[in-house]
Amino acid sequence: MAYIKLNTNESPFPPCPGVISAISSEEVLKLNLYSDPTASSLVEAIADHYGVGKENVAVGNGSDEILAFIFNAFCDKKNGMVFPDITYGFYPVFANMFGVKYSVIPLDADFKIKVADYENITDNVIIANPNAQTGIYLEKEEIERLVSQNSERLVIIDEAYIDFGGESAVGLINKYDNLIVVQTFSKSRNLAGARVGFAIANAELISDINTMKFSFNPYNLGRLSIIAGREAMLDREYLKNCTSKIIENREYTASELSDSGFSVLRSKSNFLLAESDKIPGKELYLKLKERGILVRYLGDKRIENYIRITIGSREQMEKFILAVKEILR
Ligand SMILES: *Cc1c(COP(=O)(O)O)cnc(C)c1O
Repeated sequence: MAYIKLNTNESPFPPCPGVISAISSEEVLKLNLYSDPTASSLVEAIADHYGVGKENVAVGNGSDEILAFIFNAFCDKKNGMVFPDITYGFYPVFANMFGVKYSVIPLDADFKIKVADYENITDNVIIANPNAQTGIYLEKEEIERLVSQNSERLVIIDEAYIDFGGESAVGLINKYDNLIVVQTFSKSRNLAGARVGFAIANAELISDINTMKFSFNPYNLGRLSIIAGREAMLDREYLKNCTSKIIENREYTASELSDSGFSVLRSKSNFLLAESDKIPGKELYLKLKERGILVRYLGDKRIENYIRITIGSREQMEKFILAVKEILR
């Protein structure tokens, strides 16, 4: 059975046309040669897009690798990392892997990040905005408050979902030298399989991230991924088209779920976190799976009744809603 895959926050859309035409057989024939270790054509496209210098951009094999470099380069047993209790599952994994001390700060009762709770934190802070699992977005003013609370600590803003209705904090990097913004091509730019992510920050932090990369895996991005990433960054029109459709499908799905009695968190990402008091989250997840629809059941204590639904095409979401209604009947 071919599943409708709404469980890992991928895009339902293909890469932009430029990706498909740029990966020519001519480029494939060059795969006997190492890739450009500086990935300069990709770095240039990212820098131009965000109006920063090339020295402000580091690229990695997915933003997961960038995050790993950051945990490894800037944190240890003494200089720890702090993040919310509900967020991206890889943060504690990286902390454990690199022997980094970490602690968590609970989201408030509405699953929101309260910036005031971070006021007296001296460890580095990492926050996904919109937050992973909840989809809830913090306004740029709030991010600026967080960054300006303490200039001695790093604040990392993981913007994996920023293109689905939020405003990037990239514009703040010239004002704050303790800010690192991390983004990925996996969600809004339809390239999860190409594994491309990047960080934008002041030149000194970027140079530290690159030092880590060069000592670990200098050719970390493959030739075809560099080409794909560049093309995807150049095509603003296609990005806008894809993200508008996702936003439209998200609002459709959220309103259908609410009509069926679900409580749905207000998401600015490409997924929804939702629960119904008519059916336990785990049971709903299993019943959807029986019907060929995969959603994510996270099972964490505070959200153990919730399922997370990636927003796919309109047709996929209609099938999902139909299945939910059948299950509840
Ligand atoms: C998907 C995701 C990533 C990882 O993205 P890749 O670039 O595919 O490694 C990082 N952070 C968050 C919050 C994500 O949701």
